[in-house]
Amino acid sequence: MSSYQHWIDGAHTAGSGTRTADVFDPATGQASGQLLLAEPADVDTAVSAASRAFETWGQSSVTTRARIMFAFRELLVQHEDELAAVISAEHGKTIDDARGEVVRGREVVEFACGIPQMLKGEYSDQVSGGIDSFSFRQPLGVVAGITPFNFPIMVPLWMHPIAIATGNTFVLKPSERVPGASDLVARLYQQAGLPDGVFNVVHGDKVAVDAILDHPDIAAVSFVGSTPIAQHVHEGASRTGKRVQALGGAKNHAVVMPDADLDYAADHIVAAGYGSAGQRCMAISAVVAVGPAADTLVDKIRERTRAVHVGVGTDPDTEMGPVVTRAARDRVVDHIGQGETAGATVVVDGRDLVVDGHEEGFFVGPTLLDHVTTDMNVYTEEIFGPLLAVLRVDDLTQALDLINANPYGNGTAVFTSSGEIARTFQRAVQVGMIGINVPVPVPMAFHSFGGWKNSLFGDHHIHGPEGIRFYTQGKVVTTRWPHVDEESLAQLNFPTAK
Ligand code: NAD
Repeated sequence: MSSYQHWIDGAHTAGSGTRTADVFDPATGQASGQLLLAEPADVDTAVSAASRAFETWGQSSVTTRARIMFAFRELLVQHEDELAAVISAEHGKTIDDARGEVVRGREVVEFACGIPQMLKGEYSDQVSGGIDSFSFRQPLGVVAGITPFNFPIMVPLWMHPIAIATGNTFVLKPSERVPGASDLVARLYQQAGLPDGVFNVVHGDKVAVDAILDHPDIAAVSFVGSTPIAQHVHEGASRTGKRVQALGGAKNHAVVMPDADLDYAADHIVAAGYGSAGQRCMAISAVVAVGPAADTLVDKIRERTRAVHVGVGTDPDTEMGPVVTRAARDRVVDHIGQGETAGATVVVDGRDLVVDGHEEGFFVGPTLLDHVTTDMNVYTEEIFGPLLAVLRVDDLTQALDLINANPYGNGTAVFTSSGEIARTFQRAVQVGMIGINVPVPVPMAFHSFGGWKNSLFGDHHIHGPEGIRFYTQGKVVTTRWPHVDEESLAQLNFPTAK
């Protein structure tokens, strides 16, 4: 059994709380560890440590910060296997899938290694006679991150490397279901030479989150998780005057046009729908089959869905592991039943799947529902499991109307061989991240990630250039160094350039 404590000021600490939570191995259904849940006093201790650390870290040179990011990046490479193993054990995803998120998260660190280049300000010579003007950005202070279970390392890495490289100090509240990766990351930062107190981890639940939202010494909050909690965080952090970006849930549609390569589309939809057991915020959950594509497409997806190998994440043959908790499994099973009752056709049914030797594991098989309509719960709710729902429409206009009427706007994709259709789609769809024949269009680290509508509350997308803006505030300086004999030119009128 692993036992997790908070990481504050460069050391593990039990904190003041007595409440605990179990960490589960989703493949066996058994508790594999335990963590201490933070009380508000523990959040306060972490914020105090981060505030003290900011006094020096906020003044450190940008090259010092970059060098620590380079060292941290090397340690992430060296510990990739260990990180992937911890993630797979607590989340259930396959080792290779876990390794993929380590690599995608590390790319944010690689982006942060270039911080000296990105923090270069702008300079205008001679904006008026003898006057120059320049602008630059400075850190905010102590900032906090609150993250979900489904990417135990990648989503926190969307936040803290950029926050720290821009000169802030950080308090992370990771998901209480997957604490292991954050614990290792804290130790790797220390090995990389990051001063104590710059990166802190408090494990906890709603109590810790609300203490973060209320804390007067936290300047900004980044959140990633479900939509109701994203709204709660956005409102709570705004009420206490913090800068906030809160990324929420999703319902991602893949539109398949009749002119698409249907084998290619079916391959990629199955990978995007069932990879990580459908527990990615960019997973495809709704397939919008357009016109005559539908019957053939459903046949091809069925064939591939049946072939998906479900098993334990550590088995190299496994393509899809369990879902994260028993409650998540029950939610998926319940939704399949609701869809069936509402009139959807259950083409592939994952409800009765049992993995030999892991009868208590949180497994549910990949499931395909056809003839789903927009009024069914199986469509209106984010299920976050291996369930693909096929909706049928007549043309591209109907497909766009359907997506645009959905309250979520995280990711979407269109499969087509027409550049004209692709361009119409990318311009008209009200979604933040769009794939053209790419089912999971997660932006690279040097772009920014973010959805629209109920998938993001706040003004800034996360990581990339918007991440740098989120964690910094701008200053503009206007300078004049008059010669001792120079006329002062002072006047009561509003000054204009001469
Ligand atoms: P969640 O909303 O349950 O939890 C996210 C965080 O909020 C956790 O740290 C958790 O401890 C905390 N939390 C939970 N309940 C809370 C409450 N009542 N008050 C305050 N804090 C609370 O999400 P999850 O189940 O861990 O993750 C899955 C969700 O995250 C899905 O909805 C998925 O779409 C979303 N997600 C979105 C993105 C994105 O980029 N938009 C990325 C990954 C995951």
